[in-house]
Amino acid sequence: MHILFNEPHYTLAGMFATFSAARAGTLSGNGKYTKICQQFFETKYGFRRSLLTSSCTDALEMAAILTEIQPGDEVILPSFTFMSTANAFLLRNAKVVFADTLEGIPNIDPAQIESLVNSRTKAIAVVHYSGIACDMDKVMEIARKHNLLVIEDAAHSLDSYYKGKPLGSIGHFGTFSFHETKNIFCGEGGMLSINDERFMKRAEIIWEKGTNRAAFYRGEIDKYSWVDIGSSFLLSDANAAFLYTQIEQLEKIQKRRTGHWHSYSRQLKPLEEKGYLKLPVIPPFATVNGNMYYIVTASLKERDGLISFLKKNGILAVFHYMPLHSSVYYKDKHDGRELSNTQKFSDCIVRLPFYYHLRSRQIRYIVEKIRQFYL
Ligand SMILES: *Cc1c(COP(=O)(O)O)cnc(C)c1O
Repeated sequence: MHILFNEPHYTLAGMFATFSAARAGTLSGNGKYTKICQQFFETKYGFRRSLLTSSCTDALEMAAILTEIQPGDEVILPSFTFMSTANAFLLRNAKVVFADTLEGIPNIDPAQIESLVNSRTKAIAVVHYSGIACDMDKVMEIARKHNLLVIEDAAHSLDSYYKGKPLGSIGHFGTFSFHETKNIFCGEGGMLSINDERFMKRAEIIWEKGTNRAAFYRGEIDKYSWVDIGSSFLLSDANAAFLYTQIEQLEKIQKRRTGHWHSYSRQLKPLEEKGYLKLPVIPPFATVNGNMYYIVTASLKERDGLISFLKKNGILAVFHYMPLHSSVYYKDKHDGRELSNTQKFSDCIVRLPFYYHLRSRQIRYIVEKIRQFYL
């Protein structure tokens, strides 16, 4: 058997998406399919405004511009994340301050956030790792108390909830990814959700290269001009049309992906009970959205051993993230605090193959091989 780590879910409708967008009259940004997708997300998840971008990285950069962060201002974020979460703020010349994760869950520890806030702090960026919610009441409470803006990096978190609220709708901003490895995708793609009225108008301007072109196309003004800084953050409507074919299947995709998640969980439970490995912890306020499945091994050595054992058996499992605070780029800039939970997750997490087309018998085979490794 040969099982890939990820296999994108292509459909015939997806293949014809470019054709649909061209026939609708535009392949560039802010066209027919962009509007349909944005409306869908606003209605389904209650975002005040949704803007499609060419990546989650772009959405994070937009959020960083909208926070009006100044050189030297501080942003608190987890070290256990993708580098884009940090890059967005570094590009504004802000200082990023890395917080550790909780001990049992690879999400930022709210107590750490609280301890790192000072008079220079302007924002907090949280990541709902694998779509499992951070304790947002605690995060928002800290933000209110210190007048900080909150960005939810919801790259893993489409269709996941915190106490019934959709992730990405709770902070001032949410950022999503439609990269090939996420629940729904369009090659490269992303979205910024804006949940605070104050930022809605400027967001649209920054999105359109610093112009009020979007308002012009709605007929609100009679010519458009350059009014602010910005960039070309828009998603091509060809990609938006592809994304729409995925949205049409969202329920089916989510049902199947969360099904895979629960299959892994059920079948691996006995190994956890015997103390061999740890499975994801789902707090009572969070939901599972079938973004990925991971296990936590006891050590780096065991992690490497398991990955190579699986590889010998035709199964591609991977690890991530290398902690940002000790990365090549940042290690000399970090203040030296040890982030031991981050290091532990970085050393011990194994992500198992996870994608729409994964078969039940493949999951059984993967679990069987993990069992063989331990027993
Ligand atoms: C995938 C991912 C991103 C980046 O998404 P792109 O759409 O590839 O830019 C950012 N943050 C996290 C946590 C991610 O997993």
